Amino acid sequence: MSLPIHGSLVTPAQARVDLSAIEHNLAVLRGHAAGAEVMAVVKADAYGHGLVPCARAALAAGASRLGTAYIQEALDLRAAGVTAPVLSWIITPGEPIDDAVAAAVDLSAGAAWLVDDIAASARRAGRVARVHLKVDTGIARGGATPAEWPALLDRALAAQAEGAIEIAGLWSHFACADIPGHPSIGRQLAIFDEALAVAQKAGAAGSHVLRHIANSAATVTLPEARYDMVRPGIAMYGLSPIPELGDFGLRPAMTLSARAAMVKRVTPGTGVSYGHLYTTERETTLALVPLGYADGILRGATNRAQVLVGGRRRTVSGRVCMDQFVVDVGDDPVREGDEILLFGPGAAGEPTAQEWADSLGTITHEIVTRIGSRVPRVYR
Ligand SMILES: *Cc1c(COP(=O)(O)O)cnc(C)c1O
Repeated sequence: MSLPIHGSLVTPAQARVDLSAIEHNLAVLRGHAAGAEVMAVVKADAYGHGLVPCARAALAAGASRLGTAYIQEALDLRAAGVTAPVLSWIITPGEPIDDAVAAAVDLSAGAAWLVDDIAASARRAGRVARVHLKVDTGIARGGATPAEWPALLDRALAAQAEGAIEIAGLWSHFACADIPGHPSIGRQLAIFDEALAVAQKAGAAGSHVLRHIANSAATVTLPEARYDMVRPGIAMYGLSPIPELGDFGLRPAMTLSARAAMVKRVTPGTGVSYGHLYTTERETTLALVPLGYADGILRGATNRAQVLVGGRRRTVSGRVCMDQFVVDVGDDPVREGDEILLFGPGAAGEPTAQEWADSLGTITHEIVTRIGSRVPRVYR
């Protein structure tokens, strides 16, 4: 297995990704799947953790399939030599469906025009395209509404009869699986079951057809939502899909660190960073952290999020800038080049991505996916 390693070991910042944590998390998720297949969701550069190394780690740990949002992400996997089944589910008119079909990428279709476009690509290529038909059971994003579902099935069955496509999956997605007990969960499951029954009657639900609806939250809390396959994303990276219910035994894979670019003593009353939103109360030491909103350190972290410097928790002091922010470290003997941990598993006392999400009023998905391309991913 070849892993991307940054040219220089000395970088202003890095995101270390512990692939053994991903393998551990896959084992936890396979336990919840209880025999159902696991599709490892690696969209958005594997939630910022790095597409190819994470895909390979997940497959090595027993995921049987990969899921991406965009076709290009699936083609990137193929270009890297990943041959496992991949499903892509966001497709807009005019996209390179020919390339996807040629690369044996499974495609989602929730509308008749898309079935037609996929079938046309398959005819041109002289191949059979594998299609997962999507029903919108109550999230109102992609997928056919229950009213449109029978017509979508007919269209797909016609293309299948002609040999252009194979109906390989019937699927949907939850709106509120991360809110245990939300009434929409049961409603969506009932609508999904009804859609599957309609498909069965129409002859579109053969025994090889994969039925799937569960994201991470559903995988760990709703055994009745497993069907033939689960599609965990955030949990595979070790972040809790339902933080209120604990960590589910998952281990965060990413540690984001930076090295102090400058340290200086300043006098009381020193205004710090743009807008002087932080002012020192006494003589103190300021450390400059070379990460900013261009790297995914949200501007909302200003005077709010915490980091670990010299073994101690400190709060971001003043405005987060494009490439840097400042931390008041008091009288601690911090030096240039010292490591500053923004978030990680928490083992050294550093904040977790969950704490960053909580302090910013968001979810961990946003914290990790935003880490920019300037930050090298380093694999262990
Ligand atoms: C992102 C995504 C998932 C994974 O969601 P998590 O909440 O991260 O587990 C599963 N299915 C679809 C369709 C998705 O878009």
